Parts: sequence; structure tokens; C-alpha cells
Amino acid sequence: MSDTAPRQVIIIGSGPSGYTAAVYAARANLQPLVFEGSVTAGGALMNTTEVENFPGFRDGIMGPALMDEMRAQAERFGAELVPDDVVEVDLTGDVKVVKTATATHTARAVILATGSGYRKLGLPREDELSGRGVSWCATCDGFFFREQHIAVVGGGDSAIEEATFLTRFGSKVSLIVRRDELRASKIMQDRAFADPKLEIEWNSVVEEIHGSDRLEGITLKDTVTGETRRMEATGLFIAIGHDPRSELLAGQVDLDPNGYVVVEHPSTGTNLAGVFAAGDLVDHHYRQAITAAGTGCAAALDAERYLAALD
Ligand code: FAD
Repeated sequence: MSDTAPRQVIIIGSGPSGYTAAVYAARANLQPLVFEGSVTAGGALMNTTEVENFPGFRDGIMGPALMDEMRAQAERFGAELVPDDVVEVDLTGDVKVVKTATATHTARAVILATGSGYRKLGLPREDELSGRGVSWCATCDGFFFREQHIAVVGGGDSAIEEATFLTRFGSKVSLIVRRDELRASKIMQDRAFADPKLEIEWNSVVEEIHGSDRLEGITLKDTVTGETRRMEATGLFIAIGHDPRSELLAGQVDLDPNGYVVVEHPSTGTNLAGVFAAGDLVDHHYRQAITAAGTGCAAALDAERYLAALD
């Protein structure tokens, strides 16, 4: 099955960036078609509980509720939302081709908003306790862990940045490092060693995550001796990296060495005319719902101007 005439715009992704692009594109009468993904429509915030830093909700809002609101707002203005995965794209021509497993669609402009995934430890309970003590974002969740014992997993720059940031809140922060040295830059290492609230657990990996409703502790395994020990942490921040969801785009739009889409800042334009990108698929620096929403808005405005110039 395929659309007959090309649409004005197709949006791939349904997190804050995709839905915000959809609100703007729909209000500009571009009747966007939005592919939301089959498993995680709504994006990363569907996996969390309270969101306290999205402006407009002074008492905070649950992540899934925030995303339901964004979705309904896009739908209200006429965005067509499809809970399917895009499996193939050809974005190089004037008419962009976007395929799902069952249909082929075409459009004059495409907005890429597929986000990025935080790397996980791959342990039982990790997903169930996400937003209940287990987190991937200190900026988002650090505030919830005042005067608590927090563990941070990772040995690179971002792990140390998260850990030192969390010392503002926690009574103690334990950095769990797999080896007997840090991968982080010298300046970050110096910062970690100088922080009186930060303790480093060398040669350690998290073997088990404990807790039924909330995180109650973790079991660490010594990578040299194999011995295990329990740590009574009530916060666990996993800072072992994240991967942009850009597999579809390889060989089409320019990607940086880590796979993030390269845009012509301050615009959201990629190297391909009519192809725009927003949110965590582009941004490995801020990675916040509000910044994703902001660039989603910019992508829709950029697409609107691009289409207007064609007519
Ligand atoms: P995402 O939200 O990741 O959405 C991308 C969407 O694209 C997904 O729905 C996915 O299904 C879809 N998709 C991917 N590939 C395809 C495809 N091939 N076809 C169709 N669809 C596809 N930020 C805050 O500001 N405050 C917080 O409190 C906060 N808490 C967080 C808690 C957790 C547990 C996590 C993981 C993140 C949190 N963040 C928070 C960060 C925030 O969620 C992200 O920065 C934001 O969601 C990024 O938005 P995005 O639209 O770029 O991507």
C-alpha cells in the first residue's frame, strides 16, 4: 500500500521532539504523518515516573501523562499518528520515501526525531525500578535523592560529571568502577578525587539490583577476587553511555563518529535538503525533554520554511 501524492511532511519518532514538531507542523496546516514506533510510542519519558523540570507543571507530572498530553495536543490539530516502526528510508531525492513493514509513504520533507537509548546494565529489576531509584539522568532525578546513599556506575567523563553533581544531593555517592583506573580525563579525575562525598569502589560491577517497589540496595562483585558484597544504596545512576537511534540513516544523512545526526546549527537542517533532525538523535549534550521539545519546534519551523520556499 502506498500514498498517492507525496505528503508535506513525515515525522519519525514520538518523544517530546517528535510530538512538538507534530503540534507545530499540524498548526501550520502541513497535516503531518507521525510514525510513533511500535513499542515505545511516547519516547523515553514513558519509562519514568515524576518529571519535575518540564515548565508549566509546578507540581510535576508523571512522564507517561506528559507524553499523553503532547500526543493529544498533536492529534487535536490534525496530526495523523501511526504506532508503527519505520524500517527503511530513502531521503536523498526531492521526494522522500519512508517505509514501514506494510506500507510505503512519500513526503516533501522529513523530520527525524528517533531519540537515543541509554545503555543498560542488562540486569533483572533494572527496568522495573526505572524511576523508582534506578535512573540514567542526574540532572532529571538527582533532586529526588536528598540525603540518600547514591551509587553511580561508570568510569568515563559523564559518569564523573553525574557523580560529582549528585554529591550536591546525596549523603554519600559511591562510584562503581569496573577497573582499577578511570577512563575519564585528568581534570575530571582530579575533581572526583577531591570530592569528600565521593567514594570510588574500584574493580567492581553491579551484579544484582534489589527492591520490590523501590530500589533498596545492590550487590557488587569484585572483578578480581569474584567476591560479592551488598551496598545499601537507594539511588542507582547508570552512566555507561547512550546510543542514538540512527541505524536507519546510515549512508543517507551525515552522522558524527558516535552516530548522532549532524545538523547545521542553529538550524535543524541536515546535509540533505528537506531533511531535518531534532531531539536526542542530534543532541548528546543536554538530553532533556524541554531541549528535545525546543528543537522539535525548530525542525517544524525549518520544514515549514523549506516547503514555503519550494512553492
Ligand atoms: P525519545 O523520547 O527517545 O523518543 C524517540 C521516539 O522515537 C520513541 O518513541 C521511539 O519509539 C521512536 N522511534 C525510534 N526509532 C523509530 C523508528 N524507526 N520508527 C518509528 N519510531 C521510532 N528529561 C527531562 O527533561 N526530565 C526528566 O525528568 C527526565 N527523566 C528521564 C527519565 C528516564 C528514565 C529517561 C530514560 C530519560 C529522562 N529524561 C528526562 C530525558 C528525556 O526523556 C529525553 O531527553 C527526551 O525524551 C528526548 O526526546 P526525543 O524526542 O529526542 O526522543
